[in-house]
Order: sequence, then structure tokens, then C-alpha cells
Amino acid sequence: MGKPVLLSVDDDPGVSRAVARDLRRRYGEEFRVLRASSGDEALTALRELKLRGDAVAALLADYRMPQMNGIEFLEQAMDLFPRARRALLTAYADTDAAIRAINVVDVDFYLLKPWDPPEEKLYPVVDQMIQAWRDSPDATVSDVKLVGHRWSAPSFRARDFLARNAVPYRWYSVDEPEGQRLLEAAEAGADDVPVVITPDGVVLRSPTEAELAAVAGLSVDPREEFYDLIVVGGGPAGLGAAVYGASEGLRTVLVEREATGGQAGQSSRIENYLGFPDGVSGGQLAERARRQAAKFGAEMLLARDCVALEAHGAKRVLRFADGSAIAAHAVVLATGVSYRSLGVAGADGLTGRGVFYGSAMTEAAECADKKVFIVGGANSAGQAAVYFARYASSVHLLVRGKSLEESMSHYLIQQLGEIENVHVRTCTTVAEAHGSDHLEEVTLLDAETGEWTRHPASHLFVFIGGAPRTDWLDGSVVRDERGFIPTGPALLEDGRRPHGWSLDRDPYFLESSLPGVFVAGDARSESVKRVASAVGEGAMAVTLVHRYLGER
Ligand SMILES: Cc1cc2nc3c(=O)[nH]c(=O)nc-3n(C[C@H](O)[C@H](O)[C@H](O)COP(=O)(O)OP(=O)(O)OC[C@H]3O[C@@H](n4cnc5c(N)ncnc54)[C@H](O)[C@@H]3O)c2cc1C
Repeated sequence: MGKPVLLSVDDDPGVSRAVARDLRRRYGEEFRVLRASSGDEALTALRELKLRGDAVAALLADYRMPQMNGIEFLEQAMDLFPRARRALLTAYADTDAAIRAINVVDVDFYLLKPWDPPEEKLYPVVDQMIQAWRDSPDATVSDVKLVGHRWSAPSFRARDFLARNAVPYRWYSVDEPEGQRLLEAAEAGADDVPVVITPDGVVLRSPTEAELAAVAGLSVDPREEFYDLIVVGGGPAGLGAAVYGASEGLRTVLVEREATGGQAGQSSRIENYLGFPDGVSGGQLAERARRQAAKFGAEMLLARDCVALEAHGAKRVLRFADGSAIAAHAVVLATGVSYRSLGVAGADGLTGRGVFYGSAMTEAAECADKKVFIVGGANSAGQAAVYFARYASSVHLLVRGKSLEESMSHYLIQQLGEIENVHVRTCTTVAEAHGSDHLEEVTLLDAETGEWTRHPASHLFVFIGGAPRTDWLDGSVVRDERGFIPTGPALLEDGRRPHGWSLDRDPYFLESSLPGVFVAGDARSESVKRVASAVGEGAMAVTLVHRYLGER
């Protein structure tokens, strides 16, 4: 791996040269200074750096560039190098640009040109950016190599896991010569894929997510046995609880079985979350929340699945799949919902091989010039259609109902209407999925005409609502008939407290039938399925935890 990179992009060649010269003068020994004259050129350079496994410490982008402005460039650059620190350069104070830059790309600095003398105006800013990059709490593994099969569900899961946890990795297909060479070097066969090779040369064959997390430097083992608060689930509700818990002095640990961000982390653009007038991608929102929780000292365990909740006196114990456990005074359950399966002929066997639940954004590049189908009529499906339309030749949104108005926000319906290659098909369901190695065709059923039609299809993304996966809580807390967890007033039947309730008060608003165990977000009965409400409930749950702890 070469020196870490500082990249500047400016369409004015004079300015571009001057920035690079100033940066080289001060940072040239430790960093490689690169410059580009357009967003596209800079993105091409970043892609090459990514492939070579190089690190990028800071990006400085001019705001006013033709074709792609600085904010648009930084937004795309973040997908490649989320931890590179970001500055926007502008010729004069432009408040709107500054606000957009903060909202859209979480820009660290806003620099006015010219910056003479650089010692006063440029270097202090770049010094801080480099320091922030170095202080990044994550152990970055620069060059995890992942060899897999393009159409293999386990290979997809491994890629998705690394991508959603923002772990840099290089992907090699077993069909490419380099992929073959790596397998040979690792003494592995095509049946072993996915094969992961760490920078130290450790080889993992078909690793579990916990094994992957461990080699990728993600935290999997708890530092303590006992905490004030355990948060289960790292979606918006769990991250909200972790931020408020840790910032208010509770020893807090968050346990997440996949990647932080939850469902929201899969959203290509959340437009209705307060404070983000230009929208924010779920990945970015999750990354900021994760950093915020870490900043306040919340511990985060990844790839750990909670499989049992036990009450030992006042102690609440969470057991993991491997039998180990942690305990706390209080627990916030923020386990959200998971997608329901499509349940049509052929789909199960092709899951991860063309049929995907959620937007599987790592697949975007593979959709280039292909025909993509999306199932669902809610906002999540609409967002995915907008996102994949940028890559696919055509996107077909299949909606069971008679119109989108019943289920999708007005702003998204309008957006979809303006995109030429998006086609909305109402009263239509998927009847069958076909393909041997991977998805090749889908059969659609038109409910109005009863007609069955077969279409070539490379990708089918399914967004048909979710069900809570709370079976593991059976017997520990009361669940409703659909598996959601009732709290507070919903637990009272004719004013009577739930069976086994031991305290001389009613359960608090977000408290489950087990005192000291609170529920926030989508997993709660009758909850509003929104990012904002999930975050709000996470925060509120912590207030109730304080109240509960104060009673003891
Ligand atoms: C594609 C998409 C787009 C969306 N767009 C929007 C939008 O634009 N605006 C909006 O307001 N809402 C949107 N939503 C809805 C919003 O994302 C959810 O309401 C919100 O994420 C709920 O947050 P949560 O924390 O309750 O649950 P989740 O986000 O579901 O997170 C739950 C987490 O808990 C983890 N978990 C579950 N069980 C366990 C266990 N036993 N052990 C450890 N971890 C566990 C899961 O892996 C998951 O990460 C969207 C949803 C999707 C899927």
C-alpha cells in the first residue's frame, strides 16, 4: 500500500496547481498529493485507489465546477472512501452551498479561496482534517481480499456485510485470473468461496459474519460483563438510545447482529428526516450516528446475535448465540423488523443470486444496462426505483394495489414520474422467478386481466414490508399476535397490569412486561415506522431508563 492520499479537485487549472503545490510543500513527505480537474476525473482516480487498496485521508473539492459540483462529487466520493475528511472550496461566501455541504456530505470545512498565506488559512484546516482521519475510531483494514462467485448467495452476504459495515475490501470474482491466482495461493477451491484473505495473509473459507467481523477489525467481544444499559439492535432506535445513554453517563453497550443502520442503513435516500432538507443516504446517516455514539463512549458489538433475555433478580441478562452473555441494570430492545419473504415459486433458491431483500446497494454496478424489477408500493420501494434507475436500462416497479397514492409519499411519486426509465405497473405481482445459476426471468401476474407474462430480468429487489423477529423473546416479554412487543398502556387489560409484573406502578410508556426492559422503534406494537420516531423513541427510552434506575 502506498502513502495515504490527499486529493484536490478544481476545474481552474491555475488554482488546481496552486493547491497541489501548497499541499505538497507541507505534506509531501507523508502523503501523496493528487489533483484532478473535474469530479469525474477525481472519481476515476478514487476508484483506482480503492482497487489498489490505498487510503485517502482528505478530499478538497471546489464547489462551482461544471457538470458535477463539489458537493455532488464529495457525495459520490464518500461511497468509496467514507472516512476521508472533506472540505469544500469556494470563491466567495455562499451560505446555501455551506448548508447543503453540511447536510449532504457532512463536510468538515468550508474554505474561502484564495488562502494566502497557506500557513494561516490552509494548513491549520488540513492539519485538523488529517488528525480527524487519524483519530477515526475504527480499525481500518486496508486490503481485505474477498474472492467469491458473482452469483453466490454466501458471497453476496459477505460483500454486503463488509460494505454495510464500511470495511474497505477488494472483490475478486472466481472467474477472473486474479481471483483464480488468489484461490491457488490460498490453497482453496471454488467450493470454498467466499474466501477472505486478510492483509496479514490469514485465509478464511466461507467465514461466518462473526469471523468476518473479527478479521475486519470490528468489535465482537464485550469489554465488560456488566453494564448500566444494553441496547439490542443498531438501527436508528438503537443508535438513538446508545447516543443518549452514553452521553448521559450510562455505561452503554449496543449489540447488533449485522451492521449498524438497520433498515434505514439500506435506504438510498431518506428525504423526510428532520434537518436534512436535501435528503441523506441511510449509509451516511448510520455512519454519523455510529461515530456520534462512539464519541460519547458507547461500546458497539457487531455480528453478535442476541438469542435469549433472562431476568436474574434485578439483573437483566442477554445471551448470545455462542452461549456467552452480558448483563445490565436495564435493556432497550430496538430490534426493528426484517423483510417478509416473497414466497413465490423459484424465489427462495435464487435469493442472493438475483433476488434480493432490500435494496442491496452493492449490486448497483451490476445492474448497469440491465432490466431490474422492484416489488412493493411503499416509500422504500420508491427510493430503490429512483436509485437503481441511475444504473439500470429500465426499472419496473411492481405494485399490488391499484395506485401508488395509497402507499407512497407524494414527493416520491412525483420523482418517479419524472424518470424516463422507471415504469410503474399497478395491480401486478410476481408469480414466479426463473433461473438455474441466477435469476434470468420473472413471471408477472396482472390481477386485473389475469394475464401471466414472462420477462427477462437480472435483478428482483423485494420490499414487501417486514415482520419483527422476536421469537427469541418468547416467554421473557409479552408479544402480540404478530410478534411486536406491546409497551406501557398497551399492556394494561381493563386497568390490570401484565401477568408477573412485580412493581407497584404501571409500566412506563416504552416499558415492556418485564420491568427495566424498554422497547423503541419498529419492534414496538403500534409504533410509527419512521426513522424520526425510531430515533425519538430511542432517546425517550433512555429517559425512562433513568427513571427506572432512580426507583431502585
Ligand atoms: C429501504 C428502506 C427505506 C426507508 N426509507 C425511510 C424514509 O425515507 N423515511 C423514514 O422515516 N423511514 C424510512 N424507512 C423506515 C425506517 O428505516 C425504519 O422505520 C427504521 O429503520 C426503524 O428503526 P429501528 O431501529 O426500529 O429498526 P431497524 O432499522 O429495523 O433496526 C433494527 C436492527 O436490529 C438488529 N437486530 C434485530 N434482532 C437482533 C438481535 N436478536 N440481536 C442483535 N441485533 C438484532 C437488526 O440487524 C437491525 O440492524 C425505510 C426503510 C427501508 C427498509
